Amino acid sequence: MQINYNLKPASERRTEQFEPAENVGFGNLRTDHMFLMDYRDGEWRDPRIVPYGPFEVAPGAIALHYGQSVFEGAKAFKHEDGEIYTFRLDKNAQRLNRSADILCIPGLDEDKQLAAINALIDVDRLWFPMQDGACLYIRPFLFATEDRLSVSPSEQYTFCVILSPSGPYYSDGFDKAIRLLISERFHRAVSGGTGASKAAGNYAASLKAGKAAAEYGAAQVLYLDANNKQIEEVGAMNHFHVCKDGTIIIPTFTDTILKSITSQSILELGELLGCEVRQETVMLDQFLADIEAGEIIEAGGFGTAAVVSPVGSYIFEDNRVVTVGDGEVGPHTRRIYQVLTDIQKGKLAAPGDWVRLVPRLAPV
Ligand SMILES: *Cc1c(COP(=O)(O)O)cnc(C)c1O
Repeated sequence: MQINYNLKPASERRTEQFEPAENVGFGNLRTDHMFLMDYRDGEWRDPRIVPYGPFEVAPGAIALHYGQSVFEGAKAFKHEDGEIYTFRLDKNAQRLNRSADILCIPGLDEDKQLAAINALIDVDRLWFPMQDGACLYIRPFLFATEDRLSVSPSEQYTFCVILSPSGPYYSDGFDKAIRLLISERFHRAVSGGTGASKAAGNYAASLKAGKAAAEYGAAQVLYLDANNKQIEEVGAMNHFHVCKDGTIIIPTFTDTILKSITSQSILELGELLGCEVRQETVMLDQFLADIEAGEIIEAGGFGTAAVVSPVGSYIFEDNRVVTVGDGEVGPHTRRIYQVLTDIQKGKLAAPGDWVRLVPRLAPV
């Protein structure tokens, strides 16, 4: 793939923000450039890196009206050798295509996605924050641009990648377990729907639930299946719990659960974590009984942004509260976080090619 570079002159780049040493927060900053590629006449064309900024979208663009739009979220890390490495980006590329397929969007060759992201990181590599625990958050997305008001798949699309230099998700350390609202009123996905894709509309549909959670003093909703029997997942994280013997359990992936790459990594790590990790259907009643009985000792969420999010308690719509263990961050949750972030930072050998060097190629 021949990428066309239209870079900002060095003098116009926001150099004052290069390598910020203070915590820049998560997702707040943008780098100087973005990657774009368009789908027209049945093929992807014109791969280019251009200055970050607004682009033109027709007011009748299908993505704006009917939500034909999908996205991904990944991270790159700086290792001790000063080089930048992406974490399991091939998995994100695969999943973007799976999400695209669910929304009738044409896929984009995984190698082209990886080449696009590597080239963009390379160009904006000076944006990597200096702070310990920092990363470049990578946001690829794909949306329908055809100007047409009838509901059918667009014939034109844009693939875009933007980067957000981010500080550690847990800026005050990894000390506070969150509370989740277990809701019978809100549902994220139904079988046969779009729950297994990172479709933009899934997240618009979760906002009301997020507001309700906040009213209960909860960080987010833990979604149940449409019959309110099984535990599914959190709005942007898979759910997990830890049994008394250390076994980690993640609800079985179905078409109503997004297949988290963090969860898959924990499943594949099993042995390195020194415990069994498996998937099963998790029934709410049993889950609660096991917490009461002390059979379940820790719980939390898995996702790229937070890596691991410890859950200390659940609240129901009748205000009943169920506390997991002592309600604090437990040792298993800490170890999972430590092992996975050490692998990402290159401090622990990564299985296979989980971490891959971003090559230095830029014509700058
Ligand atoms: C992105 C996302 C996750 C987490 O997936 P990762 O690949 O680990 O980042 C979990 N659930 C939903 C609904 C998501 O959108």
